[in-house]
Amino acid sequence: MSTQKIVIVGAGPAGTRAAQCLVRHGLTPLVISEAPDNGGQIYRRQPPGFTRSPQKLYGAEAHKAVSLHSTFDRLRSQIAYLPQTTVVNIVDRTLFLDTLEGVEEVTFDSLLLATGAMDRVIPMQGWTLPGVFTLGGAQVALKYQACAIGERVVFVGTGPLLYLVAYQYVKAGAQVAGVYDCVPFGRKVAALPSLLWSPRTAFLGMYYMARLKTLGVPVRQGITPVEIAGDGHVRAFKFRDDFGEHVVDCDAVGMGYGLKPESQLAELAGCSFRFDEIQRLWVVSHDGSGRVRPGLYVAGDCGAIGGADVAELQGELAALELLADLGMQASAARRRKLQGSLRRLARFRRGLENAFPFPQWLVHTVPKETIVCRCEAVKLGDMDDMLALLGPDDTNRLKAFCRTGMGRCQGRVCGSFLMEYLAVRSNKPIEAIRPLRAQAPIKPLAYAKAAARAEPGHALPAETPQ
Ligand SMILES: Cc1cc2nc3c(=O)[nH]c(=O)nc-3n(C[C@H](O)[C@H](O)[C@H](O)COP(=O)(O)OP(=O)(O)OC[C@H]3O[C@@H](n4cnc5c(N)ncnc54)[C@H](O)[C@@H]3O)c2cc1C
Repeated sequence: MSTQKIVIVGAGPAGTRAAQCLVRHGLTPLVISEAPDNGGQIYRRQPPGFTRSPQKLYGAEAHKAVSLHSTFDRLRSQIAYLPQTTVVNIVDRTLFLDTLEGVEEVTFDSLLLATGAMDRVIPMQGWTLPGVFTLGGAQVALKYQACAIGERVVFVGTGPLLYLVAYQYVKAGAQVAGVYDCVPFGRKVAALPSLLWSPRTAFLGMYYMARLKTLGVPVRQGITPVEIAGDGHVRAFKFRDDFGEHVVDCDAVGMGYGLKPESQLAELAGCSFRFDEIQRLWVVSHDGSGRVRPGLYVAGDCGAIGGADVAELQGELAALELLADLGMQASAARRRKLQGSLRRLARFRRGLENAFPFPQWLVHTVPKETIVCRCEAVKLGDMDDMLALLGPDDTNRLKAFCRTGMGRCQGRVCGSFLMEYLAVRSNKPIEAIRPLRAQAPIKPLAYAKAAARAEPGHALPAETPQ
């Protein structure tokens, strides 16, 4: 029996399947997750007291959600589990945790990162108004709190989540004022053959699009967003297409342009990254089975965006690699089977990325007065002045000069736009632009907690934010 201390960060599809595999082989991993419960983003569980059925919450994916939740419930007595705990830093073999009580440390021998993804945004005029949410944020409000973000909601951006969230809103009884996709319809048609590598998912996507139309929701593709207008709150969404400029009355907007990996911990743990040309993102380099090096593994969206089914398979595969590295029995046949399934889903993923490419062409349409870094309220024009004066050619220098990416989100929101913009301004390919470096703490940490840590015996004030 191994006495290795194994830590999994994240209790979504990837983290859950990894824990299940390790437990099946007689190990007791420590699972740490910032969420109050397991399930991750897609299978997020509702709070105690909420009684909506899985069918209502997760629709066509309800059976997968139920399976993942019941697996985790069974594992609870066989793992160590720290919910509501955020890993904010990694130094050598020590994790620094932001817990409800304060900052704590745990050490590990092997680390499996399954930290998922977050929305990717492109700033537009008015996106900092109250009433504007990311697509994922709009979905969290619905799934977790059974709330819509407004009474008349517009969804804008691109990606499968755009149509899914709009469909979920309509199904929940909300009024959707329109779905505005920046990518033209022709791109989806061209990608159809590769989408058939996962026919069920492809069919579901087409069903959501068709259903929205038959329910009378305006669905427009190939549009250019112009502005979210309002006076202290969202009042309208403006967009442009081949027929001119249009205004849609609304009181809330959900926007998003696909997802990006939450890979800051991977960076702090010493992973190297490779550029993914289709996703236009830096993703973690690993051996194809999640092994970065013996003792360090990634699984699910935090490695590269792959979706929930991929995350489950990668979680198990990375755990099997970990077992093999410990010299334990890890079925080679099972590993081959998982790798085969992942290869098939990778073909589907490529199709999806081609059907919903990140619309980098929108970078040229953002006006100078648009706030690009919302934490530090830096406008595109301010950034331009700095670029003209000092000519920084990477996001980290730009951050030092004009504070883009310096605020609470540490560039998690604005970082990918900064790269796109610097590529355009410096006339370089996007892969030549260095992304923002991950900085600890990777997520906001109450100063009082850090101070209490530095000065043991220093009691936390009662009102310390969690
Ligand atoms: C907001 C949002 C909504 C989505 N909705 C859908 C959907 O409806 N349908 C769909 O098909 N796909 C959806 N996706 C994509 C889908 O969720 C993912 O493909 C899938 O969940 C990936 O599984 P995962 O295990 O890799 O990560 P996740 O499910 O994201 O799980 C990662 C877990 O790690 C935790 N975590 C992250 N960082 C830390 C840290 N530093 N310390 C501790 N814990 C941490 C997170 O809280 C989370 O619980 C959504 C993605 C997002 C971001």
